[in-house]
Amino acid sequence: MIIARTLNELEAARAGLGPLGLAPTMGALHAGHLALLAAARAQGLAPAASIFVNPTQFGPNEDFSRYPRDEAGDLAKLEAAGCALVWMPAVAEMYPPGGATVVHMDGPARLWEGPVRPGHFDGVATVVAKLLGQVRPAAAFFGEKDWQQLQVVRRMTADLHLPVRIEPVPTVREADGLAMSSRNRYLSPEERATAPGFYAALREVAADLAAGAPVEATLAAARDRLIAQGMLPDYLALVQAETLEPLAVLQAPARLLAAARLGPVRLLDNLGVPG
Ligand code: AMP
Repeated sequence: MIIARTLNELEAARAGLGPLGLAPTMGALHAGHLALLAAARAQGLAPAASIFVNPTQFGPNEDFSRYPRDEAGDLAKLEAAGCALVWMPAVAEMYPPGGATVVHMDGPARLWEGPVRPGHFDGVATVVAKLLGQVRPAAAFFGEKDWQQLQVVRRMTADLHLPVRIEPVPTVREADGLAMSSRNRYLSPEERATAPGFYAALREVAADLAAGAPVEATLAAARDRLIAQGMLPDYLALVQAETLEPLAVLQAPARLLAAARLGPVRLLDNLGVPG
């Protein structure tokens, strides 16, 4: 496994590898991240990961400085997973002085996480565009766990005509249904016991909507149930799966998107709804 920390090292490493499948990450790796690498390998690509905690996608009051970092643990997991290349640039390598370009996202970035985290998707789109330009993979792999991010990245690469395939990877879950996330470690044991109720609520709503229940009343009742369980929903919405515009009636392809605060953590999850 080659570890590249500078653009020169990355360029030298690329020369010896075939077509790459890139999994962009912020580290603190778990089985969800490793599923991205497995998907790259399944497509016959050399699995590559980037680890970069991107300051421009964090708001001023968010957890950039406290975001979990575990370089040694991450590298051991990547090595064991058969990763061929790890790209881990310093912030100054990614954002050298004089930089004057930001990718601004509208469309799928407009609602949901967009207004809750102003500037977040511009930061994501900018760093992903940079990573794709640096690594130049044949395909880049993104988790369905962050459904809105996946749609933003798809839109950005299409709009900028970037020569890369964007490949979605299904959400990897704990045995009780909770979507794996680097931030789950901040849940207290009591909160951890509550958290599976979040995905359970999505499954219930999806089943009810698929059976013909009215959209608004079903969503409102589910929000109330989350609150009763101790979660504070930012949103629970039925949306068109690609544009992420809200749907008043079920129409395929549809997706349930949800975010809720539970103690110090924002739970984020989503689920397809058969139309
Ligand atoms: P992060 O390190 O949280 O920025 O995530 C890096 C990539 O891993 C993103 O494409 C995420 O969607 C993906 N990812 C994170 N958690 C999961 C999960 N539980 N299942 C599948 N993919 C995930």
